[in-house]
Amino acid sequence: MTKHLFLAGAMAFGLMASPALAQDQWTVRPEWVRAHESFLASDALQGRGSATRDEAIAAAYVAAQFESFGLKTAPGMTGYLQPATIVRTSLKGVTLTADGAAIGGTSVLVGGLQPVSGKAVVFAGTDLAKLPKGDVVLARADGPGMQLFGLFRAAGANGAKLVIVRENAATKETLEKFGGTPRMPTYLDDGQSGMDGDRPALLVLPAAAFDALAAKPGATIAATFEVEKKTSTTTNAIGYLPGADPAAGYLLLTAHLDHLGLRADGVIMHGANDDASGTTAVLELARALASGKPMKRGILFVAYGSEEIGGFGSTWFGKHPPVPIDQIVANIEIEMIGAQDPKLPAGHMMMTGMERSTLGDTLKAHGALVAADPYPDQHFFERSDNYSLAKVGVVAHTLSGWAVVPTYHSPEDTLANLDIAFMTRAIQSLIAPVRSLANSADKPQWKPGGKPEGH
Ligand SMILES: [Zn+2]
Repeated sequence: MTKHLFLAGAMAFGLMASPALAQDQWTVRPEWVRAHESFLASDALQGRGSATRDEAIAAAYVAAQFESFGLKTAPGMTGYLQPATIVRTSLKGVTLTADGAAIGGTSVLVGGLQPVSGKAVVFAGTDLAKLPKGDVVLARADGPGMQLFGLFRAAGANGAKLVIVRENAATKETLEKFGGTPRMPTYLDDGQSGMDGDRPALLVLPAAAFDALAAKPGATIAATFEVEKKTSTTTNAIGYLPGADPAAGYLLLTAHLDHLGLRADGVIMHGANDDASGTTAVLELARALASGKPMKRGILFVAYGSEEIGGFGSTWFGKHPPVPIDQIVANIEIEMIGAQDPKLPAGHMMMTGMERSTLGDTLKAHGALVAADPYPDQHFFERSDNYSLAKVGVVAHTLSGWAVVPTYHSPEDTLANLDIAFMTRAIQSLIAPVRSLANSADKPQWKPGGKPEGH
């Protein structure tokens, strides 16, 4: 799962034995689950950093497994891998001027790519509902209830291109949290962004410089960013189980390959749960479903690259699907099923945004042990690859075990801290519900207001 830019939090999911088990002869074996994890979360793969060679090796592994299970290449593809180019940027310098005069001491929390200029509007209040519209917003962001990122998000939603705040404890703490390095855009080389989308730049000025600027509202402020760009390749692994009825549409089962790679201090972030566990689930569902009777609907199995840096693999897939996107009747993303959420009934996974569509109820009706997301304030629906597909109209949700597991995005997210028995039961419990959905004529639908709007 991705971290919301400014929302610390976790994401996870889990599953268990299903009442429909009896009618299903396939048994997922814990040693298969452990074997995938032993490779994907190994020291050798160095945490599968987004768009790295380690991620490419993980993709090659998944592709080889798909092939060994008898999956075909997806329609129109000649192999099991779908690469995409990602552009990462870093900030080399910033220039800030007011009516043409340079302002010193500027630090950058969130940088941009394009030069920005406009008349400054000054906001002295604390009620974000009263935030004035303008290209450049100046605000102290230190009043009661006036949080830095609340302001940032509200200004972005208002169409601001640049937000300038007065240096305070929160700005210092944030820059420290960022490791002293400003957040800079990363994007697919076709210009389409990932989950973060467009956002304003966020600059910090020392108190005296800020106060001088705020004393002349209406000044023309201009910011220019000196940016270095680096490209790299991310890789999706795609396997295809053809259906008997080409008119019945397709199911899409997904997870993400990548994790956080090597930390700056050299510590490996293994990501055994996030999301080697989901990748393992996709692999074992592929093995199980490919071994049974042919189904009506075709199933695409995909392990995406570069989820952690903004959902780029899934965004690319959503823009370049091997089958027409409107023929994908549902997407189930599996994220972090390595631990059971103590808040949920034993064996249950949570489904993000479950109330938004009929998919959760349909899976439940066929025995899946899924429950609604108990953490709606964490916005998990928007924080995994399902969202890239939901934005292009596919009924798409994420299943997770313990979304706020203590090992989330920590070096302790290792094989040793996985609950392999829970994972195995979780994967097992999905086989029958997915099979019945693949044999059904039912199309899961968004409920009124459930489909993400504005994309
Ligand atoms: Zn993550």
